[in-house]
Amino acid sequence: MKNLLTILLATFLFSCQDNNEQLNLKEGVYISNVTIISTEDGTYSPYIGHLVIEKDGIVYVGKNEPSISGVFEQIDGTGKFIIPGLIDSHVHMTEVQGMLQHHKEKYPDLVKEFNDQMPRSYLYYGFTTIINLGGISDERINSFNIQPLTPDLYHVGYSGAAIANGYPMIYTPEEYRFEIEPNFIYVESQAEHIPDKYKPADHTPKAVVKRIKNSGAIAVKSYYESGFGRMSNLPLPTKSIMTGLLNESHANGLVLTVHANSLAGHSFLTDVGVDILAHGLWNWEKYKDVPTDSLPLEIKETLDLQIQKQIGYTPTLTVIEGEGALVDTVFINQPALKKVIPKNLLEWYKTEEAQWFAKDLFGESNVEEVHKIYGNIQAHAMLVLKYLSDHNGLILFGTDTPSGPIYTNQPGYNGYWELKLMKKAEVPLNKILASATINNAKAFHLDSSLGSLAIGKKANLLMMAKNPLMDIEAYDAIDKVVIGGKIIKREDLEVKE
Ligand SMILES: [Zn+2]
Repeated sequence: MKNLLTILLATFLFSCQDNNEQLNLKEGVYISNVTIISTEDGTYSPYIGHLVIEKDGIVYVGKNEPSISGVFEQIDGTGKFIIPGLIDSHVHMTEVQGMLQHHKEKYPDLVKEFNDQMPRSYLYYGFTTIINLGGISDERINSFNIQPLTPDLYHVGYSGAAIANGYPMIYTPEEYRFEIEPNFIYVESQAEHIPDKYKPADHTPKAVVKRIKNSGAIAVKSYYESGFGRMSNLPLPTKSIMTGLLNESHANGLVLTVHANSLAGHSFLTDVGVDILAHGLWNWEKYKDVPTDSLPLEIKETLDLQIQKQIGYTPTLTVIEGEGALVDTVFINQPALKKVIPKNLLEWYKTEEAQWFAKDLFGESNVEEVHKIYGNIQAHAMLVLKYLSDHNGLILFGTDTPSGPIYTNQPGYNGYWELKLMKKAEVPLNKILASATINNAKAFHLDSSLGSLAIGKKANLLMMAKNPLMDIEAYDAIDKVVIGGKIIKREDLEVKE
């Protein structure tokens, strides 16, 4: 009797799962006969199937045709491909690309046009989730979220856990440095340069992480950066501070992601065992002039340890590419930019005034020299990325949009550029897709609702005219973006004239 019941039960479950899916929808979307490309573990087995959305969630995904009743819209997916919405785990959406504060004050209309378009530009290139890795206010979060079409925004609180007077605090004038970075870490060596009203007890890793947690953050951002150019030899976190930040982050259910792009930084943070490196390793320090076709042993050993510990590695190849692109007009004249940058701002970028940072950076260097220097750094960055990819490192898609006050890292477009650069570094297409979906979702503890196409997850997905496992151009062949169950035609996300 017991056996018979088990058999009956098994048959019932089986049939329910595979054959007689009965879905009564109120606000449904049914995408039929579409190639479904999704993974929970990095292995892809695309198949032609069906996906059903009710309100903002996925209620069915599978090979068999579901039986549906009620109110729903049907989309014929014949010849199309669907993937989960992309996640960029390193952006700064609080910035206006290419502008400092005084530019923003001078051109409030350009700022407004930029901020109105910016969320749509991320969506235009398929980014349905962005993680802001710099300080953000509640006001800014609200002004972003009240816009009609926006990606899902996650953040790291009112500021990162920076070392007092270290990177990036040092770039803010002393008068408001501490107000702007309320989550700085107090270090004795800086005591004389910290205003009295800030008490050491409020700026320990424990107190800081607690505040970050209470601000609704999903991660803690910290920094290992000794500086560059005029600002070098900056104070750095000690091992005990970084370990404290890591343990407190975990105790609060947060993830620790740390800025570092140098060998010293990557090696220090790998040793501590932080969760995520927010940049690739392109500053090879004493190895900076070695040939670009093989990895020095010391770098290889650091990477092997990253792989062994499965520390998330965020390539951010567009940092180097974007900075180098400031030297000439090739970038700014690309026709594709007209779809994502408001016209007036695009015109301003072409003016003398907007070239201030390029002049600062390059001085009198000629175009060829600049391309050569940046090309060398990028070749090193790509070699590291390829090594990690070939040896099962944990690659997390992230762009650092924008990495500085530069107009060459544009919302959405920069993500597409990053995807193409990863391809150029010889990362296979399946790993590129996983890095921007399931890997990021898992690394930032968002995988219960994001990162794959599965029942119960949020309906954030892209419908493409090309197969992203066969062709990197698929990321520029998006037909429709679905965010929280809402279907948007790609052309509706473009800049309006
Ligand atoms: Zn950044």
